[in-house]
Amino acid sequence: MQVNRELFNAVMVPNYNPSDIIPVKGLGATVWDQNGTEYIDFAGGIAVNCLGHCHPALVNALKEQGEKLWHLSNVMTNEPALRLAKKLTDATFAEKVYFANSGAEANEAALKLARRFALDNYGADKTQIISFNKGFHGRTFFTVTVGGQAAYSDGFGPKPADITHVDYNDLAALEAIMSDNTCAVMMEPLQGEGGIIAPTNEFVKGVRALCDKHNALLIFDEVQTGVGRTGDLYAYQGLNVTPDILTTAKALGGGFPIGAMLTTTEIAAHLKVGTHGSTYGGNPLACAVAEAAFDTVNTAEVLNGVKQKEQLIRAGLMAINDKFDVFSEIRGKGLLLGAVLNERFKGQSRDFLVASNKHGLMSLVAGTDVVRFTPSLVISDKEIVEGLARFEKAVAEVVANKG
Ligand SMILES: *Cc1c(COP(=O)(O)O)cnc(C)c1O
Repeated sequence: MQVNRELFNAVMVPNYNPSDIIPVKGLGATVWDQNGTEYIDFAGGIAVNCLGHCHPALVNALKEQGEKLWHLSNVMTNEPALRLAKKLTDATFAEKVYFANSGAEANEAALKLARRFALDNYGADKTQIISFNKGFHGRTFFTVTVGGQAAYSDGFGPKPADITHVDYNDLAALEAIMSDNTCAVMMEPLQGEGGIIAPTNEFVKGVRALCDKHNALLIFDEVQTGVGRTGDLYAYQGLNVTPDILTTAKALGGGFPIGAMLTTTEIAAHLKVGTHGSTYGGNPLACAVAEAAFDTVNTAEVLNGVKQKEQLIRAGLMAINDKFDVFSEIRGKGLLLGAVLNERFKGQSRDFLVASNKHGLMSLVAGTDVVRFTPSLVISDKEIVEGLARFEKAVAEVVANKG
């Protein structure tokens, strides 16, 4: 059997259009493909591989738990899930945890909980969910409808109702549509997929105040920002604004699928026995790996390292820009960084990604105008320097092709 990109077209549903490169092995922030070609990984599996590839702590946790117990279902609880939940609650505002298998599922749980909380406390009219244009919350029908790009939720029949969008950082617009019928506001504390857009201090504080005023729950989707990505364990801690519900996934498992919804005891009480669930959610294998990832990331050494590595990457990108004049701005926080293409290169982010691949670097885009970097939080300085050198070659090529 020839296992190649052609086979993808033959046997896979065409909802993705992956690169021709098929990686087969990774170590740290370095990856090798079927031909033995080496890549520096500045993509991190879209902000998932927080400890790079095959980190010994994760491999050990997987092996150890793999020889003990994989799965039970929620008919019984298990030690890794309880330990991980304890650590998540000790490290955050939250007092209760619900485990899921992905970011979308964690958000689905958050939205269902918010609706039920509002119904129980304030009656059947309090259903409005407000979220933000360009926001991304996953691909289940509820979460994709809450997401801020209608194109992703169009064409699947009637959508979940009473969901409204306004512009991110537009507090006046939010205030204008909010009322006592608002059930919840869902937002990313730094928009990832939408283009690496940070909230202003005034905005995020204002959203919290409006939620308090109207008894609406504030849901922070930290699926991309969580578990050290921004240099804080969770981004809300750096903003000094505490949500009522927080969702986390991606980096939580370091590459093993897991998601979680965190909230307070008072709010959690409304997901009573039988109201929601998941067969795999909180499975011992996923929780054991996530516990190892969480323990490793939640240290001063790793979190401070994120801030240092951010500076190194920013400086490298600025130096490239001094030579080639392609970016208008480097934005983002920690190791969730976006190089915003200037007027001349607008709409061309994919060209930079393709050129990066060609020169041995894995990068990402966030929309058509932003090249995104979300490497391992423990990427070595050596890999950063080498990755930047390769990115410089990629930039040179895109600029040369432009003529
Ligand atoms: C990736 C992402 C999701 C969706 O997570 P999945 O695991 O793909 O379901 C939700 N919200 C944000 C902010 C994300 O970045």
